Amino acid sequence: MTGRWQRLSAILALVLLVVMLEFPASASGQTPIRILRQDTAILYPIRITFRLSAISSATPITEARLYWQAGPHAAFNVRVASFTPAHRIQLEIPLSTQALSLPPFAQITYRWQVRDAQGNSLVTENSTFEYVDNRRDWQEIANERIRLLWYGLDGTLADELFALADHAYQQLAADFGVALERRPLVLIYPDRRAFEEFQVMMSNVEFVIGRYFPGHNIAACLVTADMPRDLYADTLVHELSHLYSDNYYTGYTRLPLWLEEGLATYQESADLSDELQTVQRAAAQQALVPFIDLPTAIRTVSVQKANLAYAEGATLFAFIHEQWGQEAVAAFLGGFRRTTSVDDVMRDVFGMGMADFEMAWRAWLGYPVSRVPRAVPTPTLIPLFRPTPTYLPPGGH
Ligand SMILES: [Zn+2]
Repeated sequence: MTGRWQRLSAILALVLLVVMLEFPASASGQTPIRILRQDTAILYPIRITFRLSAISSATPITEARLYWQAGPHAAFNVRVASFTPAHRIQLEIPLSTQALSLPPFAQITYRWQVRDAQGNSLVTENSTFEYVDNRRDWQEIANERIRLLWYGLDGTLADELFALADHAYQQLAADFGVALERRPLVLIYPDRRAFEEFQVMMSNVEFVIGRYFPGHNIAACLVTADMPRDLYADTLVHELSHLYSDNYYTGYTRLPLWLEEGLATYQESADLSDELQTVQRAAAQQALVPFIDLPTAIRTVSVQKANLAYAEGATLFAFIHEQWGQEAVAAFLGGFRRTTSVDDVMRDVFGMGMADFEMAWRAWLGYPVSRVPRAVPTPTLIPLFRPTPTYLPPGGH
């Protein structure tokens, strides 16, 4: 572990990130418009204020637009400033962050477009900053793979959490067969009030102890002193698996939800003994959920059935790993960048459709069957992808 500690300043509730722009335009060549100054002020967790002053040596400036984006793959939003046309302008656009479900330390990218009465235009370079929560005494542990921010915990526990996260990252990199382009950020909160604060717009916060933020490359976990190690360790790894997957499939088709949750559960522990026990007990009672029913079982209200669905998905990955090796896990995961059809991917990678694969898996569990329910051919529905956060048991994952 090449951990390095970096103390982040936590002096004021208002942080000022000043980017002095002395260079002129990035676009439209010899424009008479010049940016004098642009900066942003963060009042966490209330708002971000974007400020601009600009001058035009020709005619009055008549228009200023702010383009901003939360997360590098999100669409840009536009805000038009209202001001009285003038040669020299000074303006600000406040952006309320409370309705955005924006996690702390999310990356925000923005640029300005300024026009004058003659139609001259200037577009600034993109600037990126972190939506920093500077009210806490965040400490950082990082290496080239992963970054962890924490406060209010024992340093030894923080080191342990970092080692867990880094190990999980390396396991995920091996299973997906690629490293991530961007280094993930893990936030560790030591108390529930702080952990819930930025999630007020989200549902079921009460029992959530971990979640990741799609598109932001950020996972947040609650780790309290009285929490059993298995609970926070499993949660951290589970959320990192979702984060990794979110990155990996951005711009492609995705893993179906039941496999997404199966993979995250598979990552949690090395031996999967609990999951195997759950699955084998169900197999002995002929109560396994057939693969064709797992897409609905994974989100069923029955905790027991949902847990079985998670466990089945997890052991499916263990089965692939044991029978075909880690490269087959990567090939299987890679298949879902091209299609969401499990049947098609299984045929490509293992040379058998989903029903035959399920029979092979049941035999591997020690409970062979001669047939399993098969899908009636119907048009494929692609479910909306959104893994749920990790809840305290008994509430699934
Ligand atoms: Zn999950």
